[in-house]
Amino acid sequence: MIAVLGAGESGVGAALLAKEKGYDVFVSDFGIVKDSLKDELNKNAIAWEEAQHSEGKILDAEMLIKSPGIPETQLVAKARAKGIEVLSEIEFASRFTAGKVIAVTGSNGKTTTASLIHHLLQGAGLDVGLAGNIGDSFARCLKERDRAFWVLELSSFQLDDIRLFRPYISVLLNFSPDHLDRYDGRMEKYVAAKMRIAENQTSEDHFIYWEADEWTLKNLEKVSANKIPFGSILKPEGAYIENKQICININREPLIMSIHELALQGKHNCYNSMAGGIAAKLLGISNDIVRECLSDFEKIEHRLEPVLKVYGVEYINDSKATNVNATWYALDCMSKPTVWICGGVDKGNNYGELLSLVGDKVKAIICLGKDNAKLVEAFGGLVSDVQEVNSMEDAVKVAYRLADKGDAVLLSPACASFDLFDSYEDRGRQFKKQIRLL
Ligand code: ADP
Repeated sequence: MIAVLGAGESGVGAALLAKEKGYDVFVSDFGIVKDSLKDELNKNAIAWEEAQHSEGKILDAEMLIKSPGIPETQLVAKARAKGIEVLSEIEFASRFTAGKVIAVTGSNGKTTTASLIHHLLQGAGLDVGLAGNIGDSFARCLKERDRAFWVLELSSFQLDDIRLFRPYISVLLNFSPDHLDRYDGRMEKYVAAKMRIAENQTSEDHFIYWEADEWTLKNLEKVSANKIPFGSILKPEGAYIENKQICININREPLIMSIHELALQGKHNCYNSMAGGIAAKLLGISNDIVRECLSDFEKIEHRLEPVLKVYGVEYINDSKATNVNATWYALDCMSKPTVWICGGVDKGNNYGELLSLVGDKVKAIICLGKDNAKLVEAFGGLVSDVQEVNSMEDAVKVAYRLADKGDAVLLSPACASFDLFDSYEDRGRQFKKQIRLL
């Protein structure tokens, strides 16, 4: 019997796949399971429980699939001690694909880059699926059908319990402190979790990385795959940016594009485009198709998403910026005087990194959170107009009042959303709704 801990998207996906493959499955969730997922389990005759973990039953399993949201609890430790194989959903699912896996991880840019790679492969007419941390779980997708290529967006949590998982191409975008609570506040542990994306790769596989990331560089010698960098330095193989052009040089067929041709604008997105372009070239996709797909990719919601222009003021939704690093890149992109809406749940932020950009680009700050003290303290002396609000309606009204024709209003919170919103999506949608009501 396989026991699955956690009945969210990954847990239920794993249970469905396991059932399909003929296993007896038991799903256990300590919280309350969403009705739609309960229905799905029932329809597939999968046993489940909620609001408890029946230890005896779980420790009877031959394999334990642990959802990414579940930390290393006593129960998991007991299972390990008993010799039960503990796996992540990604590890379990990957045992049932014959396709080539392109796996993307990093602190920021995963969704953008994974979606871009998916777009590139689709553009080349390949049979490709997109799964993982984005949309449906890998296991659920595999239950539907296998594909020749899978692009997987992976968080560090999803990589925590892999064993044999071996992507043909792995992409490690960058490291900045995030989710350190799960790693005892230790950056090394968080980095080690993400580096696991490459641990089973061999010299037949490829590892794409940002050559300026100090944490990646520190760990590079542990990687056995063919290492291909992107960044600002010309290397025999890889991608770099110079004089407002990117050059992707793989298989001695350099592809040169002006950064203005790229669908995704901003320095960070040049990195994402280079990483995606390398992956596509490694799979033999032609320069013409790569060029076309890097220019016609459609922006993703909540990531530097232009919303509307109202009386000459541009409104931009970057609600997905839930850490300082993501907001740094958003502010770096701003070319107009900016009214910046920020705040929410601070995950131990260091705002010092933003001071110089804020000083250059921001004319007013609107702090949108239950507790704004840290933001007010960090920027109060730098920006003369710092206002506090605690609803999106007020944030947009105040922004409307403060912004003049030719300015921009940027929602890029640098914080999680859970004090006032259900999720970053809810925050972004409320922002857009209030703008439309102006
Ligand atoms: P993730 O899936 O890793 O959270 P997203 O693609 O959803 O990444 O983007 C999250 C936030 O990070 C957005 O605000 C986006 O503009 C910003 N971002 C995207 N790519 C990068 C990058 N390479 N470096 C830093 N920030 C980035």
